[in-house]
Amino acid sequence: MSTRRRFIAILPLAGVSVLAACGEKAAPTAPAPAPMPAPAPAEVATPAAATATAVGPLVDPVDPAAVALGYVADASTAKDPKHVVGAACGNCALFAGKAADASGPCPLFPGKQVSTKGWCTAYAKKS
Ligand code: SF4
Repeated sequence: MSTRRRFIAILPLAGVSVLAACGEKAAPTAPAPAPMPAPAPAEVATPAAATATAVGPLVDPVDPAAVALGYVADASTAKDPKHVVGAACGNCALFAGKAADASGPCPLFPGKQVSTKGWCTAYAKKS
């Protein structure tokens, strides 16, 4: 390949239009597509993290499932003899939320939130 042909062949790689190199006006080219934005951290959360941050309505204490488990939204009002002072959803091993939050998920009430101050007869002290 001649030096001239090799020069013309590498011009586009250097970002120079052959027509521009010849002094003629080049046709406008389409802009390069915008790069895809990186996904936000919340979009790449693990399933466990998604469970811990799941939102849903608060469990209604009169809901049949809640009644069956003796759930109360305020542990201090629990009438069940199994309840011990200090036991609450926030320190239950099944509680999937953060103790500092007002509510969080519990696997016994899928898709719903229990009050951190709540309690039910399935309570198991977090070790
Ligand atoms: Fe609260 Fe634990 Fe009962 Fe779930 S199992 S409702 S976290 S006491």
